[in-house]
Amino acid sequence: MSADPIASEVLELLQESREYARYLGELGVETIPHASVNQELLLAPAPGSASAIDAATKLKEVIPSPAQPALESRAEQATPSRVVSREPTAPPASLFGDLAGSPPSLARSSETLEDIWRDIGDCTRCGLCEGRTQVVNTHGNHKARLMFVGEAPGADEDAQGKPFVGRAGQLLTKIIEAIGLKREEVLIGNVNRCRPPGNRQPTLEEAAICRPFLFREIAAVQPEVIVVMGNTAVRNLLETREGITRIRGKFQDFRGIKVMPTFHPAYLLRDPSKKREVWEDLKKVRDYLDESRASST
Ligand code: URA
Repeated sequence: MSADPIASEVLELLQESREYARYLGELGVETIPHASVNQELLLAPAPGSASAIDAATKLKEVIPSPAQPALESRAEQATPSRVVSREPTAPPASLFGDLAGSPPSLARSSETLEDIWRDIGDCTRCGLCEGRTQVVNTHGNHKARLMFVGEAPGADEDAQGKPFVGRAGQLLTKIIEAIGLKREEVLIGNVNRCRPPGNRQPTLEEAAICRPFLFREIAAVQPEVIVVMGNTAVRNLLETREGITRIRGKFQDFRGIKVMPTFHPAYLLRDPSKKREVWEDLKKVRDYLDESRASST
């Protein structure tokens, strides 16, 4: 390591740029246009530079609507779904409770994921069962150190019975590979397991009925880090009213487990300029996992 602080900083910047270029390559970005203002342009300038700010300002003008409306407003618009039969699934006592202040850390449960899926069965606990083809359970490594949580299955997931297998899922696979992991090494799930009609956001009630199963899976697997992707995952896991744009990139806590909020891959498909932020967030996750492994050996 050089003793010259400027040289060290330049080296660090070079290393960062190399890693970022590799990440973009993993995501399939081949060129970064510079002649016109478009969504990819934001990938090029250094954050905070005059050209980045200028491009961001122009970008705001060409992307009119927020990609992920607040959960509350979409939930209000959604037709209330009929609850077919409500069998509240009591989560393990350690997960809930009327405790004021911080909830206790999540104790590892002795359930297996198969036990939980058996309990879910051919679920009819909320109205989403009426439009789905099948329940889409969490998928991946049952001993994963890293878990990803999205919103709810889309058409491809509903057809194949696995989370994140459509276009957003393919992008998620690339993001996972960009931090040096294979998809088979991580666990991938959703707040809701049945496809909402027209891919609308699950209502607060639908999410509240389904998420205890996710919490039980987390207690069974105890990943070291959970990446929550998009507002639905953020608000259901962290029970915060903060939007994804405000809290992304900052480690949060879910009962003693580190949680990294970041943008949903479907949002990245609509606004590729946000890939840069996701890369920054995922690098923090990768570094945390590397450090945690190093300190445990
Ligand atoms: N979007 C999600 O939130 N989950 C999926 O499984 C697929 C797309």
